[in-house]
Amino acid sequence: MDNSTHKILVVDDDYDARRILCTILEGEGFEPYEATNVEEAIEILENNEIDLVLLDIRLGSESGFELCRKIRLNDSLYGIPIIAISVSQNEEDIVTAIESGASDFLSKPISHAILIAKIKAILRLRAEAERLKESQQALLRLIRETNQQKELLSKEADFSRELNRFLDADSKKDFIRKSFSSFLGARLFSIFIYHEDSNRFRLFVTNHPDLEEGLEIEPEKNSIMYDAFTNKKVIYVENFSKSKYKKLGSDKYETDVVCAVPLLSGDYLIGILTVNDPNYGEINGYDFEGRIIRIAGHLGVSLHNTILFEKVKDLSMRDPMTGLYNFRHFLETLRFEVERAKRYEESLSCIMIDIDNFKSINDRYGHQIGDEVLKELARSIVISVRASDIPARYGGDEFIILLPKTSKTLAMRLAKRLMDLFSDKPIRIPHDDLVVKVTLSIGIASVPEDTLDVDELVKKADNALYEAKNRGKNRIVAYGET
Ligand code: GH3
Ligand code: MG
Repeated sequence: MDNSTHKILVVDDDYDARRILCTILEGEGFEPYEATNVEEAIEILENNEIDLVLLDIRLGSESGFELCRKIRLNDSLYGIPIIAISVSQNEEDIVTAIESGASDFLSKPISHAILIAKIKAILRLRAEAERLKESQQALLRLIRETNQQKELLSKEADFSRELNRFLDADSKKDFIRKSFSSFLGARLFSIFIYHEDSNRFRLFVTNHPDLEEGLEIEPEKNSIMYDAFTNKKVIYVENFSKSKYKKLGSDKYETDVVCAVPLLSGDYLIGILTVNDPNYGEINGYDFEGRIIRIAGHLGVSLHNTILFEKVKDLSMRDPMTGLYNFRHFLETLRFEVERAKRYEESLSCIMIDIDNFKSINDRYGHQIGDEVLKELARSIVISVRASDIPARYGGDEFIILLPKTSKTLAMRLAKRLMDLFSDKPIRIPHDDLVVKVTLSIGIASVPEDTLDVDELVKKADNALYEAKNRGKNRIVAYGET
């Protein structure tokens, strides 16, 4: 035991007795303090970190027992060991001293060896008690942290359950937009999905006021997103504005902390989560990185399911060969759009297209080339229509286009454009050094002038197409035209 740091207060009104004790203590390497009465003793105790008190219970007019009691009642002096010293081996004195709070008792004449042995034993016990207390406190801290961690994990499990209640992209976005920021404990977040075919990220959902969902970006080399994605690891930047990732204009952040986390489903990279100003609001001082890695794990798997779900949903709406919508999806959309057109008294048109003498193309070049012609026509239709139009394969060599908010006159214009496209330039068959000339027959019917009924509309467009064929093909006929 290292005595040099231990401070021992000797309380005795007798100068000689005090000096003898102090000399012995100094000889043993302790640092002695002296007091002659209760008041002095308390003052020294309160201002110095005294480790032990040696106290003569006969303190002139005062009682050493009184000092014992005062020490025990003083919270700041809690636990300081006291060795009481008395002139006689008086049983009553010993009992009173112990009852007043003394840790041990010695009677004069004091054996110096016993005194030092007792002091050392008491200090050793005290040190052990301290260590025990510290480890007990550490244990309590650990229990508290474990409970907090358990609570966080259970909240994360709840979040993940809620997240997986929604499979479709729109519901999932709504849920994330509403709950993610407060759940995560971060002010701003953005979730980007990676699109392998275009090598771009599309902003799936965000609460960032300056970013628009659907935004497509190609991450620059050495940007925080690029690094997080290519290295498949969390990048947490404490001083973003002073970091190598700092780009112009990114001064919106309050804490200057930016974090980019790859979203993985197994080994498969789904996208990137970016977070600004974490620990925002109430949640402070927890392991943000550990937590965000766990949350990104939940998000990655959940978003992967949504991507697959949306792909399957999309496939079920499309014609596998041309990639256009199938007629079932076309009809569903048409019903919705006709209702809307009626409610808002808007016009709507339907264009039906059929390749002239397609059978002879099949017969002459083979079915495979026939397929290529169908695909090429589908591609031309897609690039000719507006994003709000719905082109579909009706079946065989027939196609149908729904044009919301479009009058018959405008529909005629689009039909003409398509006709011209094919009459001007023959279809070039990729990989087969071949060009095929096709002409189209087109029929048009519109809401409201031809009908307000969905089935009627399709039938009337078909009738107009039939009429175009009748009149010699390679032409456009609008229903009701004479
Ligand atoms: P019309 O000018 O009267 O439209 O004559 P057509 O030969 O184009 O019309 P018809 O309806 O008699 O023939 C359509 C042909 O389209 C018949 C069918 O074998 C062919 N066909 C239907 N679906 C496909 C397909 O997916 N691929 C290919 N290559 N041919 C198809
Ligand atoms: Mg045909």
